[in-house]
Amino acid sequence: MKQFSLFGEEITKTLKFKVDNGKIVTNAECGPTPPGEVVIRSAFCNLRCIPCFAYNYSWHEKAKKNKKVICVSLDRLVDEFLTFMSRIPIPGNKSSYNWFRILGGEPFLNKKSLEHYVYFLMKIPEDISPRFNNSILIQTNGILLGIIDKDELKAVFSPLKDKPFKVVIEISIKGSNPEEFKIITQTHASVAKKFYEAHMIACENMEYVHTHISNIDWTAVAGFGIGVTNLIVGNYKRKEYIKTFYHPATNKPFYHPDCWDDRFESIYGLHVEKYKIKFGDKFPMFGIEDRLRWKFALCGLKNCKEHECFYDGYKVYKEQSKPRIVELEQYLEDILRKFFFGDPTYYYTRLFR
Ligand code: SF4
Repeated sequence: MKQFSLFGEEITKTLKFKVDNGKIVTNAECGPTPPGEVVIRSAFCNLRCIPCFAYNYSWHEKAKKNKKVICVSLDRLVDEFLTFMSRIPIPGNKSSYNWFRILGGEPFLNKKSLEHYVYFLMKIPEDISPRFNNSILIQTNGILLGIIDKDELKAVFSPLKDKPFKVVIEISIKGSNPEEFKIITQTHASVAKKFYEAHMIACENMEYVHTHISNIDWTAVAGFGIGVTNLIVGNYKRKEYIKTFYHPATNKPFYHPDCWDDRFESIYGLHVEKYKIKFGDKFPMFGIEDRLRWKFALCGLKNCKEHECFYDGYKVYKEQSKPRIVELEQYLEDILRKFFFGDPTYYYTRLFR
């Protein structure tokens, strides 16, 4: 009999991936390049974030029709990964990639898929691990990790305890309160609060797992904050690049400290404390892509543009098709005081140092 998860997708013995020229495992430019990273892209997601750069293979209705999305058995995944790692030369004649990254869509769609990923990592032999710098990063929205009981989660990850690599689970936070979460992820109001809380609890659960299994760790990142350019520059002088979701009733941008609920404040504090030595007293933020650096990511911006809660500096300053909101622009400074840009070269490199 078919089994379905809490989110409605069928639970199967396979995992779903978006392939590149038919290949599940590829390398990409991320962090110092060469060598870059090894990457696999899971398909489908239990959320539907407006700015998602992967929406063509993460949003359910898109992924279902995408010809590059395939179901893969665990044996094939292990096989392709080991073949790639042992036979394809590492760019720049290096001895190791920066790290191995599993990104979304959402890898942990249900408990079975989480167990499948753990099984896959279990199968990586010791001599392959140094070729990805003994460093694995898994990006997730964390909802499943917050729904599963923390001791159960510990049991799921325990087979990885003696592996030579470190696994960092990167939990992508979507807003600093349930209302922001609901808007960014387009989640129905009846479940938005529950899912929001789940991805916050995921951070606490993973900290619990880490205290018992030291090579399994976590980090969190504020997803879809402000435009990348302004985050990089560290100021708002480049006004046409101002991009942010905001609350029209108060003109406060999402993630403004006045919008944080208790849960966000607590995770913010936990993360800053945990990573003080690496990142000082700020929290990582992924911005909304706003320029041609990552062309593939600009489709997320396209989806944001007409939303009533989206402030787009390009429309305000270049096209003058929207009125300027001075108050909102001033509030943006408070974001920069609390967050830093999670540029992979800086953020991931430090994570694994
Ligand atoms: S959680 Fe991640 S993969 Fe899923 S829709 Fe949001 S941004 Fe895309």
